[in-house]
Formats: sequence, C-alpha cells, structure tokens
Amino acid sequence: MQQLPEPLKVLVGQLSKLPGLGPKSAQRLAMTLLKWPEKQTRDLGQNIHDLRDKLHLCDRCGALSDTDPCAICINEHRATDTLCLVPEWDAMLALEDGGFYKGQYFIIGGLIAPLENVTPEQLELDKLKQRLLEGTITEIIFALGTTIEAENTVSYIKELVKREFPHINVSRLAQGIPLGSDVKFVDKATLRQSLNYRQKL
Ligand SMILES: [Zn+2]
Repeated sequence: MQQLPEPLKVLVGQLSKLPGLGPKSAQRLAMTLLKWPEKQTRDLGQNIHDLRDKLHLCDRCGALSDTDPCAICINEHRATDTLCLVPEWDAMLALEDGGFYKGQYFIIGGLIAPLENVTPEQLELDKLKQRLLEGTITEIIFALGTTIEAENTVSYIKELVKREFPHINVSRLAQGIPLGSDVKFVDKATLRQSLNYRQKL
C-alpha cells in the first residue's frame, strides 16, 4: 500500500477493517468508488456520516431505528404479552423478515461466553427486568440459537425469570430437522435435539 496517495491509503486501511474485506479487496472497492460519478460517491460518504446522527437505539427493545421507540415497539397491532429475546439486532431482522411473529422483541446484546469475557453483567438483563416489571409480558420466547453460549444464556435467563417472575411462561424456538431435508443427512446433534423436542401427532 506504500505507493498509494495518502487519502486513498487511509480509506483502504479503513475499508479493510470491514468484515470479509482484506487489503486487496478494500483497494479494489476504493478504486471503484473513485470511478463512480462524483455525486454518487459524495452521497455515499454523506450517508455514512449521517448514520450516527440519524440512527438511535430503541429504548424499549434495543433495535437500531430512526425513531425512539422504534416502529415495532409502537405498532398497536402487535401483541404486547409475548417478548422474543434475541442476541443481536440481526436476529430480530431475520425473524421480522419472516413476517410471522407478531409480538415484542428484546435484544439482550450478546450471549454469555466466559472464554470471551462476556459475563451476564454485560448483557441488558437489568433492562429486561425493568421491562418484565411492567407486568404486561406473560411469555418469553428465546430465539438465541443453538450454540453452547446460547444454551448457557438461555438457562441463566430462565433461572432469573423463574426466580423473579414465576408467572411468566418461558419457551424457545423448536430445534430440529430443517424443512426439506433428509434424515440421513442431518447431523447427530440436530437429530438428538429433534428427538428431544419431538411433537405429538
Ligand atoms: Zn423497539
């Protein structure tokens, strides 16, 4: 990167910190931006600049939004008694994309992972308790995934809810064989979970 003019070098350095981009692809990206019409490049820069000013974290659910509370939290057509717990915003987006869940969300801000120094104190659990103290939630649905960290986080929060909010039902997304897949191609761990969470017909 030595021969690059300084401003370009700075940009390539910044771009290469983005996920999936190494120095070479970052340089290619920067060159593409330079070939764009000037207005288009300036608009992109302006939009990146404005992101911080225009986006807020929703105080209710923790989602990124241009309003606070966000559109989901103030939507009157959504159920107010179910709260879906997701680790991060992208999980919430994925569920929303499906369009089948019509309750509330709460982003806990990660998963308990002692090896990565993520402790329960770093999650938004105080805020979750405040939310539950409002008294409208009667069911919590865990949508945290199926990793060991997710399992640990589920059992930690489940205990907390059982202890402090015993009237609230706790459930989780079903785990099992993906739709359209053949049993013989499903891994052992998934098969075991499918058997554990089998459904009555
Ligand atoms: Zn919200």
